[in-house]
Amino acid sequence: MKDASKSYKTLGVTMQKFNPEQSLWECRREFGEHGGVAPSVSRSSTFTVIDPETIAQIFEGIRGPDKGGCFLYSRHFNPTVEVLSRYLAAMEGAEGAACMASGMAAISCALLQLCKSGDHIVSSEVIYGGTHALLAELLPEYNITTTFVDPSDTKAFENAIRPNTRVLYTEAIGNPTLKVSDIPALSQIARDNDLSLVVDNTFSPMMISPIRLGADVVIHSMTKFINGSSDVIAGAICTDREFIYRLMDLHTGRAMLLGPTMDPRVAFDIIQRLPHLSIRMKEHSRRTIAIARHLEKIGVPVSYPGLESHPHHERLSGMINEGYGYGGLMTIDCITQEKADEFMSILQNRERFGFIAVSLGYFDSLISCSGSTTSSELTLEEQTSMGLSPGLVRMSIGYTGDLKDRIQQIERAVRDVKLI
Ligand SMILES: *Cc1c(COP(=O)(O)O)cnc(C)c1O
Repeated sequence: MKDASKSYKTLGVTMQKFNPEQSLWECRREFGEHGGVAPSVSRSSTFTVIDPETIAQIFEGIRGPDKGGCFLYSRHFNPTVEVLSRYLAAMEGAEGAACMASGMAAISCALLQLCKSGDHIVSSEVIYGGTHALLAELLPEYNITTTFVDPSDTKAFENAIRPNTRVLYTEAIGNPTLKVSDIPALSQIARDNDLSLVVDNTFSPMMISPIRLGADVVIHSMTKFINGSSDVIAGAICTDREFIYRLMDLHTGRAMLLGPTMDPRVAFDIIQRLPHLSIRMKEHSRRTIAIARHLEKIGVPVSYPGLESHPHHERLSGMINEGYGYGGLMTIDCITQEKADEFMSILQNRERFGFIAVSLGYFDSLISCSGSTTSSELTLEEQTSMGLSPGLVRMSIGYTGDLKDRIQQIERAVRDVKLI
C-alpha cells in the first residue's frame, strides 16, 4: 500500500471518467451451480481438496480464490462472499474487496491492520459516532492515538501529521453535517507523507469513487444504501489485492484473527440488490434535491450538498461520477432538541412522511436527531466543534410515495413547528 508506484497508478486515473454501474455490470458473469442466473449460496464452512499438497499452498498464501480458485475455510474466503467482494471491487474501481459482518468491523480491521501500538491517525472530526468512539476512546487503550481536524480544511490534515502518523481518515460526505472532503487533495498529502488514505464512502456509493480519486482504502457500511432494505448488518473494505491478503493472513491478518466474517446468506442477499443500487441512488438523489430545493425556496434552514448554497457544493461537483446526483441525505437545523423532536413526531405520526429511526439508505425516509443518537458518543463540546447543532435533524430521503405529496407533508410540518 505504501508502494509509491502503485499509488501513482491509482492517482493516474483520476482524470478519466469512471462508470461504477458499467464496471459492476461488466464484472457480473456469475452463474449458479446448476446454471441459474443467480449465484449459488455456498454455505460450507470448510472445503476439501483433491490433492493434499494444495492445503499447504493455501496456508502459505500461494493459493487463494483468485489464485487457482482454492478455498480453505469460510472465515478465510468463501465462494459466495467472494462473488460479492468481486462485484464491490468492480463498483469501486479497486483491485479487491473483503466483506465484513458490519461497517464497524470493516473500519476497525482496516485501521488495526494499518496501525500498531505507538502509531497515530489524523481523522476528520465529522464522522460516524461509532468510528469516533473507536478512535477517541478504544484505540488509545492500545496506544493508537488520533488527532481530529475539520474536514473542510484540507491543510489541517497536513498540519496534524506527526512522525508516527500512519493514516489519514475521513468520510467522503461526513456524518451528520454533510461536510465534503477533498479526496484528491488528501490523497496527495497521504502520498507526500507516505501515509494511507482511508475513506468511508457509506453515504455515497457509486456517486463517489474514492479509489479513483487516490484513496488507498474505501470502507462501506453496506447496512445502508448498498443493501438498501434495512434488514442486514454488513460492511466492506475495498482496496488493493495485497492489502486484502494481509487482512486474511493466517498469522497476523486482522480480519482472519479478529474474525468478523460475513455469512454467505447475507452476501447472497446483497448480491441480489446490487444490480438496482444505481437506480436507487439516482432516485434517492432526485427526490432529495427536489425536497431540498423546495424547502430552501420557502426559507427553511436546509442543508444539502446538491444545493448551490452548500459550502462544499463545488468541491463535491468536482468529485462525483456523472448521473447519480448528490445523494439521499439532507439536514434541517431545528436549533433545539425539543423542536427537533416535535418536528420528527409530526413527520412520522401525523404526516406519515417517514420513520423516526437511526440508520439511512432505506426505501422509506428515516429521520433522526443526530446529537442525541448517532453522534451521542461525542461530547457536547465535540459536537459544537464539528458544527453539530443539538436540533439538527438528519433525513435519509426514501423513494416511496408520491414526491408531490412528500413535499406537501414536509412543508406542513415545517410550518407547524414554525421553522419558517
Ligand atoms: C452506519 C455507519 C457505520 C457503521 O456501520 P455498521 O454497519 O452499523 O457497523 C460507519 N460509517 C458510517 C458513515 C455509517 O453511517
